[in-house]
Amino acid sequence: MVELSTLKLTAEGILKRGGEGSIYRIPGSNQLAKVYHPAARTDYRAKKVERMTRLKVTGGMSGAVAWPDEPITDNGKTVGFTMAKLDAKPLNRLLSNDECFKVDWCKRLKIVRSAAVTVASLHSAGVVVGDCHADNFGYTDSGGTVLYDADSLQLSDGRRLFPCTVAHDDCRPPEIANVDLSAKSALNERTDNYMLANLIFRILMGAHPYSGVRTSGSASSVSGAISSTVKKGEFAYETNPSAVPQYAAPYDVVGCLKPLFKCCFVNGAKDPSARPAALEWVQAIDKLSSEKMGHCAKHGSYPARMGSCPFCKAKAPTVKRPKQAAQAIARVPVATTAPVNAAAVAVALPAQTATKANARAIDAADVGWTIAKILGIGALVVVGIAAIAYLLPYILMGAIFIGIIASLD
Ligand SMILES: [Zn+2]
Repeated sequence: MVELSTLKLTAEGILKRGGEGSIYRIPGSNQLAKVYHPAARTDYRAKKVERMTRLKVTGGMSGAVAWPDEPITDNGKTVGFTMAKLDAKPLNRLLSNDECFKVDWCKRLKIVRSAAVTVASLHSAGVVVGDCHADNFGYTDSGGTVLYDADSLQLSDGRRLFPCTVAHDDCRPPEIANVDLSAKSALNERTDNYMLANLIFRILMGAHPYSGVRTSGSASSVSGAISSTVKKGEFAYETNPSAVPQYAAPYDVVGCLKPLFKCCFVNGAKDPSARPAALEWVQAIDKLSSEKMGHCAKHGSYPARMGSCPFCKAKAPTVKRPKQAAQAIARVPVATTAPVNAAAVAVALPAQTATKANARAIDAADVGWTIAKILGIGALVVVGIAAIAYLLPYILMGAIFIGIIASLD
């Protein structure tokens, strides 16, 4: 336990001011302090911090989670916590296929393996990530990952649940697609498993697992198309290969991971228990990483069994596609200079902000398309009316002429 006044925090040392608290550099230390704003110093947060610092889940995974080290107290009341300063680049920049293909295949395998190890370790300690999205991870040059915003993780003290109340829309499994998480606790290891598979797929394939698919005519919007296919488990890579987007890497590149993706996105769409656990992903990724590699001058390593570089075969993204909207948002925090203090990044872009912005981007794309349709239909109607108006006198004259002829008979 650390007394707030002994940390000598200053306004100049603020790395990030978030909605519930600020993150400070601690002078003379390589640690950071998260201090809640006075209005956010609730009994609930204090209890959660105390529970987390007692759990010490980072024992075997130090450096992989920005886990609270010690509670910070002010006159006996817990008002925040200390944590290690862990620098990494925002992982969400790899959700864009033109960016992710610039990162060597072997390194991407290390990154997704590291994320899976983190999730497996947390699950074994009874902790649920909740919002298991690339926005909450950073990655290092050596292929490691760091999970930030640890005080939003979900855990229990045996009597009381400290729920995670946010999750990005673009990685939610069907059973929580429309659930208000602030009103109902609905996150668990199985929702984590689904979101982890989503993260792994996107970083290895350069595409969202449900992008580029419009197999049901009822979906009138981009977001509607994705949510419709998510609910039905219409994972095109397994169910309709002709519908997969060309900007994705060829699906064969993920080799032995394919059965796991099928279990998660097809069977696991309706049956959460069918989703592979984080540890299964670790084992399969190890197998994939042990393959013989080929080398491309542009992209680096790739599985030699593919014959030629699979990433050279991926087409450049087109203007309008489901992933485009999600990626545009995913890039938002990347505008900060790298490497950045990722703890600050995690707080800078709360999950709900990304989600709303994402929805706005998708809506904007849809509105544009709707306007184009209205203008096109309008133009056709105007041309039709003009043609009828132009021909009307001739039609009338013809009718009169025929009437005259008929009357002569
Ligand atoms: Zn290549």
